[in-house]
Amino acid sequence: MGRNRFRKATGFARWLLCYFGFDAVTWPDGNIYLLEKAFSSRWLRRHELAHLMQWRRHPWSFWFRIYWQYATAGHDQAPLEIEADAYASAAIGYGTAWRTFAGKVG
Ligand SMILES: [Zn+2]
Repeated sequence: MGRNRFRKATGFARWLLCYFGFDAVTWPDGNIYLLEKAFSSRWLRRHELAHLMQWRRHPWSFWFRIYWQYATAGHDQAPLEIEADAYASAAIGYGTAWRTFAGKVG
């Protein structure tokens, strides 16, 4: 991994996370913003890194794809979210139930 992409959410990103009830979000500036309380969660960080991988896989259509999936399947059932959960759980070594304890993720 190159430069540290993890940032404490402030300003608009923090407001957005709180408004939607999420603890972390991958942002179109290529950084990952986490609320203070979730900043050290390895699972959340892996989940968000999976979104960066998905973005690299579909560089021109990632944002369209993920918002289309949110609109049609809902956030939690979006295939890109399910894939990110599986990636995080496999990497960290907990079952997918870990998501319940990790907090909501964007
Ligand atoms: Zn996500």
